[in-house]
Amino acid sequence: MNKNETVQQPLRSGDLLGGKTALIRQCDVCGMTTAIDLDPTPENFKTMQFFGQYVREVSREKAMELWKKAGKCKCNGTLAA
Ligand SMILES: [Zn+2]
Repeated sequence: MNKNETVQQPLRSGDLLGGKTALIRQCDVCGMTTAIDLDPTPENFKTMQFFGQYVREVSREKAMELWKKAGKCKCNGTLAA
């Protein structure tokens, strides 16, 4: 079993830390992870930004770990208005 096979992607020169990181989005209030993106380009960073949540860059390992615990943010509905 080789886990690494499908994870490799061509890296772009714009990768923030050499492509070994990922972007995650977490709620400002409850800290729930609501999204991850394994392609940490500035473009994706912008796309992921969402009101009331913050996007940051972490290692891919950390991102996958957080993704397992990710779920729906309960604050989402209450932030509007
Ligand atoms: Zn929340």
